[in-house]
Amino acid sequence: MEIVLASRNRGKIAEVEAILRTHLPAVKLLSLDDIGFVGDIEENGETYEENALIKARAAAEACGYRYAGLADDSGLSVDALGGAPGVYSARYAGEHGDDAANNALLVRNLAGIPPAERTARFVCTLALVLPDGRTFTLRGETVGRIIDTPRGSGGFGYDPYFYYEPYGKTFAELTAAEKNAISHRGKAVEQLADLLATL
Ligand code: IMP
Repeated sequence: MEIVLASRNRGKIAEVEAILRTHLPAVKLLSLDDIGFVGDIEENGETYEENALIKARAAAEACGYRYAGLADDSGLSVDALGGAPGVYSARYAGEHGDDAANNALLVRNLAGIPPAERTARFVCTLALVLPDGRTFTLRGETVGRIIDTPRGSGGFGYDPYFYYEPYGKTFAELTAAEKNAISHRGKAVEQLADLLATL
């Protein structure tokens, strides 16, 4: 089965494809570049699900529904901040993808809040739009706690501040394989593999 992932990020595509292939060896993921899509997709939804569906539909439309469209939308929701940064995770401090500024703002907004009340979850939503128009959304979540001082050099985004209690480590201290096994994205992709196997 061939699926267009609404992304140009080779790393993300390789990561999703690797997890899927352990379950479904015949799956092939194409990127937006592979199908000649040149524009940008505006993510203006208010939920992870809405954003993932917008992107997955755009991918399916861009190839004339020849292949299924797949998209992910993810972020960090902090309980003490009413779920923020949520769908704004990538641009929490203003500029898209400025991890250092996003993390600095997160730590500032949690100043004075005791460790037990710093619970947070990473969320990953996947949307799949099939050539026949059927749509599915899947969600993976991993619960942790936000710490004040960064630890580790792996991963990206909020990983150095996301402490995962069962391992006694932040996400930035895990290997890629360790992170995939328990991460929000890993869980959502596992669900996708189960779903694809039933289609
Ligand atoms: P997107 O879904 O690729 O747009 O990612 C949204 C934002 O959520 C990223 O820019 C990161 O700030 C944050 N995020 C999502 N997943 C992770 C993760 O696994 N580790 C750290 N940050 C993440």
